[in-house]
Amino acid sequence: MSDEGEDSPRRLCAVVHGVDHLSSARHPQHPSRGPLVHLLLRALRLVGCDRSVARTLMPSPCLESDLAEYHSADYVSAIAEVEEEEEEDDEDVDSLDPMPAKKRRRGAETGKGGIDIFLVDIAALLALPAPSPQAPSENMRQYGLADDCPPFKGMMKYCRAVAGGTLTAAEALCAGHCLRACHFEGGRHHARRDCAAGFCYVADVVLGVMRLTRKFRRVLVIDIDAHHGDGVEEAFYHSEKVTCLSLHMYGKGIFPGTGTETATGSAVGRHRTVNLPLRSGCRDDAYRRLFRTVAEAVRREVNPVSIVLLVGADALHTDPLGELHLSEECLLKCVAQVRDWGLPTLVLGSGGYDERTAPRYWAHVTALMADDGTRWPQRDHSGTDLVGSEPEDYPPGLVAGLLDTSEIPPEVGDEAFERLCGGAGAERYCGLEVPKPPPAGGRDPNGVEYIDYLIHYSVNNIAGGSTCFAKTPRRC
Ligand SMILES: [Zn+2]
Repeated sequence: MSDEGEDSPRRLCAVVHGVDHLSSARHPQHPSRGPLVHLLLRALRLVGCDRSVARTLMPSPCLESDLAEYHSADYVSAIAEVEEEEEEDDEDVDSLDPMPAKKRRRGAETGKGGIDIFLVDIAALLALPAPSPQAPSENMRQYGLADDCPPFKGMMKYCRAVAGGTLTAAEALCAGHCLRACHFEGGRHHARRDCAAGFCYVADVVLGVMRLTRKFRRVLVIDIDAHHGDGVEEAFYHSEKVTCLSLHMYGKGIFPGTGTETATGSAVGRHRTVNLPLRSGCRDDAYRRLFRTVAEAVRREVNPVSIVLLVGADALHTDPLGELHLSEECLLKCVAQVRDWGLPTLVLGSGGYDERTAPRYWAHVTALMADDGTRWPQRDHSGTDLVGSEPEDYPPGLVAGLLDTSEIPPEVGDEAFERLCGGAGAERYCGLEVPKPPPAGGRDPNGVEYIDYLIHYSVNNIAGGSTCFAKTPRRC
């Protein structure tokens, strides 16, 4: 961290980024997502080399005792029931790559040494089979380790890596090493103290918030993943230090089935939970109006000292599991709004199940978070020029990275870039093609009246006022 001067824009943003971390943090349901995200971040020089706009945070796995700061001892024991993998990841990678592991590591850490060894390592990770699910024991079933969270070999290593990455990012913020820290493998917001749920094995968000509260008195968690952040809400429902704001799909059959606007916190945490439930098919205009108004009201009332922002890519209209019809541009405007508050911000990935659009979205999030606010003009949030802007509006270092793919080694293979670009090759990405917006026409099922109601209800709630309304709430 000592290589950065006080005024360096790289002080602004850091990204948890490392091959060993990505190897351990591969999720059985979407094992390629993490490697593809970091392949793109690296290829765009957003992180990991001398000219990148964000600095690298080298994570280390946390200890089981760190997990036990929130999780019950019984849950940690259930996770530990699965036999751990031998130290075989390196061997698997080596079998696909003739370069000795030590040399690879040296290259990955320094970003030097001819070709970018990190990219070669990531290509090898992408070629590995997914961690295979195992049959759950009766004990594991009690703790949710079945169905959408099946046990798998390396599960404890996975949990320690994911929580370790989030804690590394949180500690960098507490130490003042950067203003914004991103960990895209984190954001597992459905995990509970003693139960896995919704693809989430470890409550890294809760652990990260707990770590932040050691330094920052008031933390605001903003969750724009498509699903309700039920695990995080549960952890802080009675807390006055931590406020949770979640925008999410809500309706019959939609996971997890919680997150109505009437859940507003309890005891000293009353009025410190804000839920904005949306009907499937929500579109940009309604979402932006709701977010812009309510997020500002929450910030004003709570006066947070630090932010945790969950940028689940399943809110994109391209996601196979999400049912919101939001463009990347819409979500990035929400991210930029939070960034412009200028507060220490922990950015976590959470959901996102389309392996083309999640990496692109998070590359854009990283670019936004790395912006120093002086080289990139301030934006009018009501405008539309944020993403549709010309490339010269991006920080100079980023433009060079976007336009120059000459240093991407051919050894990485076209296949990985094909997967990112939908078959059109790496060059197409360099044009920063943004996913198509939802088709024109058709009405947002969240009408103006319903959005007005949500704004009225939530602004009143966060101000600590009565939440009695003459109008009967129109429910999803
Ligand atoms: Zn989600």
